[in-house]
Amino acid sequence: MGDCSRCGTKPSYFTRRYSGESLCADCFKETTVEKVARTISKYRMLRRGERVGVALSGGKDSLSLLRILHELNGGPISEARGELVALTVDEGVAGYRDEAIEHAKALCDELGVEHVVVSYSGLFGFSLDQALDWKDERDLTSCSMCGVFRRRAIDEAAVKANVDVVATAHNLDDYVQTFMMNLLHGDVERIAWLDPSTYDENFPVRRVKPFTEVYEEEVALYAFLTKIPFQSASCPYMHEGLRSEVRDYLNELEAKHPGMKNVLLSSALEVTSKLSKAERADDDLPVKKTIPCAKCGKPSSKGICGVCRMTEIVWQHSKALKTQESPR
Ligand code: SF4
Ligand code: ZN
Repeated sequence: MGDCSRCGTKPSYFTRRYSGESLCADCFKETTVEKVARTISKYRMLRRGERVGVALSGGKDSLSLLRILHELNGGPISEARGELVALTVDEGVAGYRDEAIEHAKALCDELGVEHVVVSYSGLFGFSLDQALDWKDERDLTSCSMCGVFRRRAIDEAAVKANVDVVATAHNLDDYVQTFMMNLLHGDVERIAWLDPSTYDENFPVRRVKPFTEVYEEEVALYAFLTKIPFQSASCPYMHEGLRSEVRDYLNELEAKHPGMKNVLLSSALEVTSKLSKAERADDDLPVKKTIPCAKCGKPSSKGICGVCRMTEIVWQHSKALKTQESPR
């Protein structure tokens, strides 16, 4: 390989096929951090001095996000300068989650970042293992159930940590896959809520996705080059179904036509902003309209929120919870 097309001194290590840049490892890392900084500015994700919660699962994406936001914190982009707090959710998956939480804790210790951990057991009264022990009778996928609880758990952690904004590590691939999935499910309503930076009129914490413009393979390479130890095993309940077919299809398209995912991202963002029924706040950020859940009072798009509906289903079906409840 020839020299790095940016610094011109070190040997090239990685080629961004969509842009034609051939970069050495250091320039690759620097340009990745710069891209995240540009995304933060472009979508007005952060404001100077804010307390920023970083959703930290202990996987490569979220660990990389914490490291990059930590780096930007000391850098020249003033709006990215604030106080970082890592927010971890322990779903309660025996033999899997503990390792990821250790990686999360280790990075927080290294960077001197406060770490708040909340658990499904503490918040909802059951672990994910207990919530999913009625596999045979379910027509719901594990992830569609778990995802509802995860979002709420992050919200609860954000409130507990008293943050102004929560940053999640959804990358460009996640974004375009979700866009395609919503199209394939005919779920146009959800496309309207894919903005990279949003807030809910009934919830005090904004949500932002600083990796919206970074390819998944580049996040993985950043994690590798910065030697972040992370958990590589997948959650045993992971059920991707159609999503993994969409991922394969998009990867094939990208291999044949470099840059295709970038084009799809631009189209998805445009469709999202056209469909968005969100009102714009003074700072032009989309504000999500919700109503308080009739049962728990938390923000909901319908009368009863997803968490209350799912909790009811779990309590009705879970054998483990019934055993706990039964008279001794
Ligand atoms: Fe939950 Fe699915 Fe993630 Fe496992 S992979 S933690 S089931 S959302
Ligand atoms: Zn509710």
